[in-house]
Amino acid sequence: MAAERMTQTQRVPLLAGNWKMNLDHLQAIAFVQKLAWTLKDAQHDVASAEVAVFPPFTDLRSVQTLVNADDLPIAYGGQDISAHDSGAYTGEISGAFLAALDTKYVIVGHSERREYHGETDEAIAAKVAAAHRHGIVPIICVGETADDLEKHGPSAVPVAQLRVALEGAAKGSEIVVAYEPVWAIGSGQAATSEQAQQVCAALRVLIAEVLGDEVAQATRILYGGSVKAANIAGFMRETDVDGALVGGASLQLEEFASIVRFQKHVGT
Ligand code: PEP
Repeated sequence: MAAERMTQTQRVPLLAGNWKMNLDHLQAIAFVQKLAWTLKDAQHDVASAEVAVFPPFTDLRSVQTLVNADDLPIAYGGQDISAHDSGAYTGEISGAFLAALDTKYVIVGHSERREYHGETDEAIAAKVAAAHRHGIVPIICVGETADDLEKHGPSAVPVAQLRVALEGAAKGSEIVVAYEPVWAIGSGQAATSEQAQQVCAALRVLIAEVLGDEVAQATRILYGGSVKAANIAGFMRETDVDGALVGGASLQLEEFASIVRFQKHVGT
Protein backbone atom coordinates (compact mmCIF):
# COMPACT_ATOMS: atom_id res chain seq x y z
CA MET A 1 0.00 0.00 0.00
CA ALA A 2 1.07 3.57 -0.63
CA ALA A 3 0.83 4.44 3.08
CA GLU A 4 3.31 1.67 3.93
CA ARG A 5 5.58 2.78 1.11
CA MET A 6 5.50 6.32 2.47
CA THR A 7 6.59 5.37 5.96
CA GLN A 8 9.35 3.22 4.50
CA THR A 9 10.77 6.00 2.40
CA GLN A 10 9.53 9.26 3.97
CA ARG A 11 8.61 10.60 0.55
CA VAL A 12 5.38 12.57 0.68
CA PRO A 13 3.55 12.06 -2.63
CA LEU A 14 3.23 15.10 -4.89
CA LEU A 15 0.27 15.55 -7.20
CA ALA A 16 1.10 18.37 -9.59
CA GLY A 17 -1.25 19.96 -12.11
CA ASN A 18 0.37 21.41 -15.23
CA TRP A 19 -2.24 23.79 -16.66
CA LYS A 20 -0.15 24.49 -19.75
CA MET A 21 -1.58 27.54 -21.60
CA ASN A 22 -5.04 27.39 -20.01
CA LEU A 23 -6.98 29.54 -17.53
CA ASP A 24 -6.43 33.30 -17.13
CA HIS A 25 -5.84 34.86 -13.72
CA LEU A 26 -9.55 35.20 -12.89
CA GLN A 27 -10.25 31.61 -13.89
CA ALA A 28 -7.20 30.56 -11.88
CA ILE A 29 -8.55 32.20 -8.72
CA ALA A 30 -11.92 30.48 -9.13
CA PHE A 31 -10.29 27.11 -9.83
CA VAL A 32 -7.86 27.17 -6.91
CA GLN A 33 -10.57 28.33 -4.52
CA LYS A 34 -12.91 25.52 -5.62
CA LEU A 35 -10.11 22.95 -5.50
CA ALA A 36 -9.33 23.95 -1.92
CA TRP A 37 -13.02 23.72 -0.95
CA THR A 38 -13.42 20.35 -2.62
CA LEU A 39 -10.39 18.91 -0.84
CA LYS A 40 -11.49 20.38 2.48
CA ASP A 41 -15.04 19.00 2.11
CA ALA A 42 -13.51 15.60 1.35
CA GLN A 43 -11.32 15.95 4.48
CA HIS A 44 -8.17 15.51 2.45
CA ASP A 45 -5.17 15.07 4.73
CA VAL A 46 -2.68 17.57 3.35
CA ALA A 47 0.18 15.92 5.21
CA SER A 48 -0.38 12.68 3.31
CA ALA A 49 -0.24 14.06 -0.23
CA GLU A 50 0.95 17.45 -1.41
CA VAL A 51 -0.94 19.25 -4.16
CA ALA A 52 0.59 21.84 -6.47
CA VAL A 53 -0.69 23.77 -9.47
CA PHE A 54 1.33 25.21 -12.34
CA PRO A 55 -0.62 28.05 -13.92
CA PRO A 56 0.59 30.40 -16.67
CA PHE A 57 2.99 33.10 -15.41
CA THR A 58 0.32 35.81 -15.59
CA ASP A 59 -1.78 33.94 -13.00
CA LEU A 60 0.91 33.45 -10.38
CA ARG A 61 0.47 36.71 -8.48
CA SER A 62 -3.30 36.14 -8.22
CA VAL A 63 -2.79 32.56 -7.04
CA GLN A 64 -0.24 33.73 -4.48
CA THR A 65 -2.61 36.37 -3.12
CA LEU A 66 -5.44 33.86 -2.75
CA VAL A 67 -3.29 31.12 -1.21
CA ASN A 68 -1.79 33.59 1.31
CA ALA A 69 -5.07 35.31 2.16
CA ASP A 70 -6.97 32.06 2.79
CA ASP A 71 -3.95 30.06 3.98
CA LEU A 72 -4.71 27.34 1.43
CA PRO A 73 -2.66 24.11 1.54
CA ILE A 74 -1.90 24.32 -2.17
CA ALA A 75 1.58 24.90 -3.57
CA TYR A 76 2.17 26.53 -6.93
CA GLY A 77 4.94 26.88 -9.42
CA GLY A 78 5.98 28.23 -12.79
CA GLN A 79 5.93 26.20 -15.99
CA ASP A 80 9.41 27.37 -16.98
CA ILE A 81 12.29 29.55 -15.76
CA SER A 82 15.01 31.53 -17.50
CA ALA A 83 18.56 30.28 -17.20
CA HIS A 84 19.49 33.95 -16.67
CA ASP A 85 18.78 36.04 -13.59
CA SER A 86 18.30 39.42 -15.32
CA GLY A 87 19.13 41.34 -18.47
CA ALA A 88 18.23 41.56 -22.16
CA TYR A 89 16.22 38.36 -22.47
CA THR A 90 12.90 39.51 -23.85
CA GLY A 91 10.00 37.30 -22.85
CA GLU A 92 11.86 35.31 -20.24
CA ILE A 93 11.04 35.06 -16.55
CA SER A 94 13.80 35.21 -13.95
CA GLY A 95 13.93 32.83 -11.02
CA ALA A 96 14.22 35.94 -8.87
CA PHE A 97 10.72 36.99 -9.97
CA LEU A 98 9.31 33.53 -9.28
CA ALA A 99 10.94 33.48 -5.87
CA ALA A 100 9.46 36.91 -5.11
CA LEU A 101 6.01 35.32 -5.59
CA ASP A 102 6.85 32.53 -3.10
CA THR A 103 6.89 30.04 -5.94
CA LYS A 104 7.89 26.69 -4.47
CA TYR A 105 8.42 24.69 -7.66
CA VAL A 106 9.19 25.20 -11.31
CA ILE A 107 8.75 22.74 -14.17
CA VAL A 108 11.97 22.41 -16.17
CA GLY A 109 12.45 20.61 -19.48
CA HIS A 110 8.84 19.70 -20.20
CA SER A 111 8.70 17.82 -23.51
CA GLU A 112 6.67 20.66 -25.04
CA ARG A 113 9.52 23.07 -24.22
CA ARG A 114 12.03 20.59 -25.63
CA GLU A 115 9.99 20.11 -28.80
CA TYR A 116 8.64 23.60 -29.56
CA HIS A 117 11.46 25.70 -28.08
CA GLY A 118 14.42 23.49 -28.91
CA GLU A 119 15.51 23.14 -25.30
CA THR A 120 18.56 20.94 -25.05
CA ASP A 121 19.64 18.88 -22.05
CA GLU A 122 22.37 21.47 -21.43
CA ALA A 123 19.85 24.34 -21.48
CA ILE A 124 17.74 22.37 -19.01
CA ALA A 125 20.77 21.88 -16.72
CA ALA A 126 21.24 25.68 -16.75
CA LYS A 127 17.58 26.11 -15.74
CA VAL A 128 17.97 23.62 -12.90
CA ALA A 129 20.92 25.71 -11.69
CA ALA A 130 18.85 28.90 -11.99
CA ALA A 131 16.01 27.40 -9.94
CA HIS A 132 18.43 26.35 -7.20
CA ARG A 133 20.09 29.79 -7.15
CA HIS A 134 16.70 31.18 -6.18
CA GLY A 135 15.66 28.49 -3.72
CA ILE A 136 13.04 26.99 -6.07
CA VAL A 137 12.64 23.23 -6.45
CA PRO A 138 12.93 22.22 -10.11
CA ILE A 139 10.64 19.46 -11.36
CA ILE A 140 12.94 18.01 -14.01
CA CYS A 141 10.96 16.38 -16.82
CA VAL A 142 12.47 13.56 -18.82
CA GLY A 143 10.95 11.04 -21.20
CA GLU A 144 11.37 9.16 -24.42
CA THR A 145 9.44 9.48 -27.69
CA ALA A 146 7.79 6.44 -29.29
CA ASP A 147 10.71 6.35 -31.69
CA ASP A 148 13.25 6.40 -28.84
CA LEU A 149 11.34 3.60 -27.14
CA GLU A 150 11.57 1.44 -30.23
CA LYS A 151 15.25 2.21 -30.84
CA HIS A 152 16.69 2.40 -27.32
CA GLY A 153 14.22 0.68 -25.00
CA PRO A 154 12.36 2.28 -22.10
CA SER A 155 14.92 3.92 -19.82
CA ALA A 156 18.00 4.82 -21.89
CA VAL A 157 16.79 8.23 -23.09
CA PRO A 158 15.21 9.45 -19.81
CA VAL A 159 18.31 8.36 -17.88
CA ALA A 160 20.63 10.13 -20.36
CA GLN A 161 18.49 13.30 -20.19
CA LEU A 162 18.52 13.29 -16.39
CA ARG A 163 22.27 12.69 -16.22
CA VAL A 164 22.88 15.99 -18.05
CA ALA A 165 20.15 17.91 -16.20
CA LEU A 166 21.68 16.93 -12.85
CA GLU A 167 24.88 18.75 -13.80
CA GLY A 168 22.97 21.92 -12.91
CA ALA A 169 21.78 20.71 -9.51
CA ALA A 170 23.29 22.46 -6.48
CA LYS A 171 24.63 20.19 -3.76
CA GLY A 172 22.09 19.82 -0.96
CA SER A 173 19.20 21.40 -2.92
CA GLU A 174 15.99 19.48 -3.51
CA ILE A 175 14.94 18.20 -6.90
CA VAL A 176 11.82 16.43 -8.12
CA VAL A 177 11.98 14.30 -11.27
CA ALA A 178 9.03 13.68 -13.57
CA TYR A 179 9.17 10.71 -15.93
CA GLU A 180 6.88 11.64 -18.78
CA PRO A 181 6.98 9.39 -21.83
CA VAL A 182 6.29 11.75 -24.73
CA TRP A 183 4.04 9.20 -26.39
CA ALA A 184 1.80 9.16 -23.30
CA ILE A 185 1.38 12.93 -22.90
CA GLY A 186 -2.07 14.07 -23.96
CA SER A 187 -2.59 10.85 -25.94
CA GLY A 188 -4.97 9.10 -23.58
CA GLN A 189 -2.56 6.16 -23.70
CA ALA A 190 -0.79 6.09 -20.35
CA ALA A 191 2.21 3.88 -19.67
CA THR A 192 1.41 0.81 -17.62
CA SER A 193 2.30 1.10 -13.94
CA GLU A 194 4.99 -1.57 -14.51
CA GLN A 195 6.56 0.51 -17.30
CA ALA A 196 6.50 3.61 -15.08
CA GLN A 197 8.06 1.68 -12.19
CA GLN A 198 10.83 0.29 -14.39
CA VAL A 199 11.91 3.74 -15.61
CA CYS A 200 11.43 5.51 -12.26
CA ALA A 201 13.61 2.83 -10.61
CA ALA A 202 16.32 3.38 -13.25
CA LEU A 203 16.13 7.14 -12.64
CA ARG A 204 16.55 6.58 -8.91
CA VAL A 205 19.63 4.44 -9.53
CA LEU A 206 21.10 7.30 -11.59
CA ILE A 207 20.32 9.84 -8.85
CA ALA A 208 22.11 7.58 -6.35
CA GLU A 209 25.10 7.33 -8.67
CA VAL A 210 25.34 11.11 -9.18
CA LEU A 211 24.05 12.61 -5.93
CA GLY A 212 24.36 9.73 -3.48
CA ASP A 213 22.02 7.17 -2.00
CA GLU A 214 20.53 9.44 0.63
CA VAL A 215 19.44 12.00 -1.95
CA ALA A 216 18.10 9.25 -4.20
CA GLN A 217 15.95 7.86 -1.37
CA ALA A 218 14.62 11.32 -0.50
CA THR A 219 13.90 12.43 -4.09
CA ARG A 220 10.35 12.26 -5.35
CA ILE A 221 9.96 10.79 -8.81
CA LEU A 222 6.64 11.45 -10.51
CA TYR A 223 4.98 9.73 -13.44
CA GLY A 224 3.24 11.88 -16.05
CA GLY A 225 1.31 11.02 -19.21
CA SER A 226 -2.48 10.65 -19.43
CA VAL A 227 -2.89 10.27 -15.67
CA LYS A 228 -6.51 10.31 -14.52
CA ALA A 229 -8.53 9.33 -11.46
CA ALA A 230 -9.08 5.86 -12.91
CA ASN A 231 -5.37 5.00 -13.25
CA ILE A 232 -3.57 6.99 -10.51
CA ALA A 233 -3.92 4.24 -7.90
CA GLY A 234 -2.03 1.75 -10.04
CA PHE A 235 0.91 4.12 -10.44
CA MET A 236 0.95 5.02 -6.75
CA ARG A 237 1.20 1.38 -5.75
CA GLU A 238 4.62 1.21 -7.38
CA THR A 239 7.64 1.54 -5.08
CA ASP A 240 9.48 4.19 -7.08
CA VAL A 241 6.51 6.33 -8.19
CA ASP A 242 5.99 9.17 -5.71
CA GLY A 243 3.27 11.15 -7.41
CA ALA A 244 2.11 12.43 -10.75
CA LEU A 245 2.50 15.37 -13.09
CA VAL A 246 -0.96 15.75 -14.57
CA GLY A 247 -1.84 17.80 -17.64
CA GLY A 248 -5.36 17.57 -19.10
CA ALA A 249 -6.99 16.01 -16.04
CA SER A 250 -5.63 18.76 -13.78
CA LEU A 251 -8.01 21.22 -15.47
CA GLN A 252 -11.07 19.19 -14.45
CA LEU A 253 -11.80 20.06 -10.85
CA GLU A 254 -13.47 16.85 -9.63
CA GLU A 255 -11.09 14.66 -11.59
CA PHE A 256 -7.99 16.39 -10.22
CA ALA A 257 -9.36 16.39 -6.66
CA SER A 258 -9.93 12.66 -7.03
CA ILE A 259 -6.35 12.16 -8.27
CA VAL A 260 -5.05 14.09 -5.24
CA ARG A 261 -7.11 11.82 -3.01
CA PHE A 262 -5.66 8.65 -4.58
CA GLN A 263 -5.12 7.13 -1.14
CA LYS A 264 -8.90 6.73 -0.88
CA HIS A 265 -8.94 4.47 -3.91
CA VAL A 266 -5.51 2.89 -3.87
CA GLY A 267 -6.88 -0.33 -2.38
CA THR A 268 -4.79 -2.94 -0.70
C1 PEP B 1 1.78 17.03 -19.04
O1 PEP B 1 1.37 18.04 -19.59
O2 PEP B 1 2.85 17.06 -18.42
C2 PEP B 1 0.96 15.82 -19.11
C3 PEP B 1 1.41 14.73 -18.53
O3 PEP B 1 -0.20 15.91 -19.79
P1 PEP B 1 -1.41 14.82 -19.78
O4 PEP B 1 -1.68 14.46 -18.36
O5 PEP B 1 -2.56 15.54 -20.41
O6 PEP B 1 -0.95 13.64 -20.57
